[in-house]
Amino acid sequence: MKTVWEKLNNVETKALFDFNEGYKKYLDAGKTERECVTAAIQLAKKAGFKDFNAMKSKKCKAGDKVYFVNKEKSICLYVIGTEPLENGLNVLGAHIDSPRIDLKQNPIYESDGLVLFETHYYGGVKKYQWVAQPMALHGVVCKKDGTVITVAIGEKETDPVVGISDLLIHLAGDQLSKTGSKVVEGEDLNLLVGSIPDGKAKDDKVKSNILKLLKDQYNIEEDDFISAELEIVPAGKARDYGLDRSMVMGYGHDDRVCAYTSLMAILEMKKPKRTSCCILVDKEEVGSQGNTGMQSRFFENTIAELLDATSTFTDLKLRRTFSNSKMLSSDVSAGFDPNYPSVYEKKNTAYLGMGLCLNKYTGSRGKGGCNDANPEFIAEIRQVFDTAKVQFQTSELGKVDQGGGGTIAYILANLNMEVIDAGVAVQNMHAPYEVVSKADVYEAYRGYKAFLEKIK
Ligand code: MN
Ligand code: MN
Repeated sequence: MKTVWEKLNNVETKALFDFNEGYKKYLDAGKTERECVTAAIQLAKKAGFKDFNAMKSKKCKAGDKVYFVNKEKSICLYVIGTEPLENGLNVLGAHIDSPRIDLKQNPIYESDGLVLFETHYYGGVKKYQWVAQPMALHGVVCKKDGTVITVAIGEKETDPVVGISDLLIHLAGDQLSKTGSKVVEGEDLNLLVGSIPDGKAKDDKVKSNILKLLKDQYNIEEDDFISAELEIVPAGKARDYGLDRSMVMGYGHDDRVCAYTSLMAILEMKKPKRTSCCILVDKEEVGSQGNTGMQSRFFENTIAELLDATSTFTDLKLRRTFSNSKMLSSDVSAGFDPNYPSVYEKKNTAYLGMGLCLNKYTGSRGKGGCNDANPEFIAEIRQVFDTAKVQFQTSELGKVDQGGGGTIAYILANLNMEVIDAGVAVQNMHAPYEVVSKADVYEAYRGYKAFLEKIK
């Protein structure tokens, strides 16, 4: 099989590189789920989408473009089709949370002349990868009076960065004899944020100086950390990767690469037959629970609203809408890595540059916990992709019994939709900096668009 690169003419290759410039901007704008939602709204508004909840008349007709935001951390976008909703939707669903390090509720303390923040990591991380790196602090601090202070420190050239220390090699004899999962332990991921003492303070002089700075510059007091959501993420921008600029290295490809490509696909929909839907959701990396995760009733509620807005809501119509819907669970897959060939089975693995990747099933140890897509549905997708000349590959996440993973696929499948995982292959998944092929990013976007337009 040829790579995507070999199939493209000059015009297509230029479009591929241009598309990835937009993707890099989205990655830079969205380092947290909240920022991803904000960036998505900006792009959606430009494309003519309206906030459903802000609309005076709650009536929709074919060709209308609307979105619903849930608690600033997830969003569902729709382009209303000419067919009734209960004939089913074509759905793209990606997650916009990524592995990172969160602050605890009582984070700040002084130790031996330094001020640090206590943290709790979020998602599956190899902790030793997250130390000795320039980190940025993103999130919100909510005050008792209702004001919300938005924080993003560490991204501008002139900003300071923060970080977590690692032990110097000269003193790391004991550390390096530990197993990988213990080399850096969770309670040792303390973030260094300051070292200048406040001369006037009695004790905890350095902490007192940092608290003064937080009050002066951000109007944040120590108590306010109790109602804050602050995330420590790698500082800096996504970059071209490889001497030929064929790849992108950046934080949070999992799963913002599928979020952006899904979003771009729906933003270009005009008046489809079947209603188009794009879900960008939080909390996938910790199991999709909670009111901003895929398991929340939020998505279901938006469909109920749309049934009401396009005809009349009944519970039966709602159930028919779900049962007749088809979905690409747009999430990343593991890209084959020649440095670690032993964990992959080469005939059933995704390769960088080979196109959009279909994972029939995920799960682990005998497909445990998987959504196993129906072959009738896969055949329909093959037909659509081949007609639209979208290059795709199929894979599973590593060798049998080597590991495994999950996505949001099973949650939508529980509503009786047809669902398959379809996304972009990633190297270094869950590391501070992940890698994707620009060719796969572009092919994912083309595949998602074909799915929204052509699936019946
Ligand atoms: Mn993912
Ligand atoms: Mn993940």
